Amino acid sequence: MGRLDGKAALITGAARGQGAATARRFVEEGARVIITDVLDDEGKQLADELGDAAQFQHLDVSEEDEWAATIDAVGQVTVLVNNAGILHFAPLADTKLADYERVIRVNQIGTFLGMRAVVPGMIAAGGGSIINTSSIEGLAAAPTLVAYTASKFAIRGMTKVAALELGGKGIRVNSVHPGMIDTQMLPTALGGINVDLTRVGKRLPLRRVGEAEEIASLIVFLASDESSYCTGAEFVADGGATASHALSVT
Ligand code: NAD
Repeated sequence: MGRLDGKAALITGAARGQGAATARRFVEEGARVIITDVLDDEGKQLADELGDAAQFQHLDVSEEDEWAATIDAVGQVTVLVNNAGILHFAPLADTKLADYERVIRVNQIGTFLGMRAVVPGMIAAGGGSIINTSSIEGLAAAPTLVAYTASKFAIRGMTKVAALELGGKGIRVNSVHPGMIDTQMLPTALGGINVDLTRVGKRLPLRRVGEAEEIASLIVFLASDESSYCTGAEFVADGGATASHALSVT
């Protein structure tokens, strides 16, 4: 018996990285999975690989009309993973409005539109679970990440509003806060430059950066009935990164 038997899940930004790892784990655990992304080729390839339990649907999370079209096309879901996200590095004084708005549209507005799109179906079904991917930048700030940090704090906040409003309808809403995870997000934001993550990882209590599968495991728990008493909460998986403060000396 799978931990997600009978659940229908939509995952955004699932063509690669943490979203793809989550889609794989969801299928292994018995869920029907709708893989969505703007990367059509990668998304279709993953859905083909995962077989009958998976399908791909193009979805730009920042486009209101595309959310409506997606739900029309795939039907209602009882699990939503708002995973799609982008990163932009620049000091605050050099951050262009267009870059700030681009990050907010995908990370913050995309999460809002996603929750709003699935809630009627979840209410009709008698409940559901929404998992919003924030970050450790939704708990504490990082320099040169003003738009990203703002968007991830907003996700943490809107998760709690949704949990308060929807708990009585059987819908649980939680945020996940990954630390540094080895995916394409960082190289993409740096224009293809690869950073030596081993050096970054050595500074952490667990002495390494995380893997996408380690976030997928947390999301399986939150999507499953094992987390039936969890809502409005923050789930951190960061190798211990946020256990210290700036004045600590190791
Ligand atoms: P990734 O870049 O590998 O995956 C992000 C996915 O989102 C990609 O497939 C991309 O095509 C998709 N995407 C981008 N814009 C989109 C849009 N407008 N509509 C739909 N899909 C879109 O990165 P990842 O590490 O797997 O990131 C997943 C989530 O985890 C993001 O929300 C990210 O902010 C968050 N996160 C990542 C890290 C990390 O260190 N990698 C740390 C904390 C939080």
